[in-house]
Amino acid sequence: MDNCIFCKIAKREIPAKIVYEDDFAIAFLDISPCAEGHTVVIPKQHFEKFTDMEEKDAGNLFASVQKVAKAVEIAMDAPGSNIGLNNGKAAGQEVPHVHVHIIPRYEGDNGGAIQSIVKTYPKTDNLEELKEKIRESLR
Ligand code: AMP
Ligand code: ZN
Repeated sequence: MDNCIFCKIAKREIPAKIVYEDDFAIAFLDISPCAEGHTVVIPKQHFEKFTDMEEKDAGNLFASVQKVAKAVEIAMDAPGSNIGLNNGKAAGQEVPHVHVHIIPRYEGDNGGAIQSIVKTYPKTDNLEELKEKIRESLR
């Protein structure tokens, strides 16, 4: 996509601190890291949302993510990491090209778990209904 900053990084049209590349994906350091070593992994092809991707492409992306996450944890001497993506504007996605964040984590670093991103305290007496609704929506 012409005006996409991450497409431009993938095509080497703008600089980035690239840590990994394969046929399908490329990984580079986040320019505004929330922890030292914060890395993003993107598919080279432009997809706006993770849920826009074909199953095969999503699988390829996550194979690369796992490889990079292992390297980030080793390089940063981090015993853990948060690995995730903001899927869509409502979820905090600012760059409209799929990217998976890898954020090194340490005991006592004052960060939270993924479940701390949002807390709307929904009711739980409708889990059976929700289960059915989601099952019926599988494509
Ligand atoms: P998101 O909110 O998931 O869309 O996050 C986009 C991420 O991309 C942010 O963490 C930004 O700091 C990062 N980012 C934006 N532009 C660049 C860039 N040119 N090089 C590296 N990281 C970038
Ligand atoms: Zn793009």
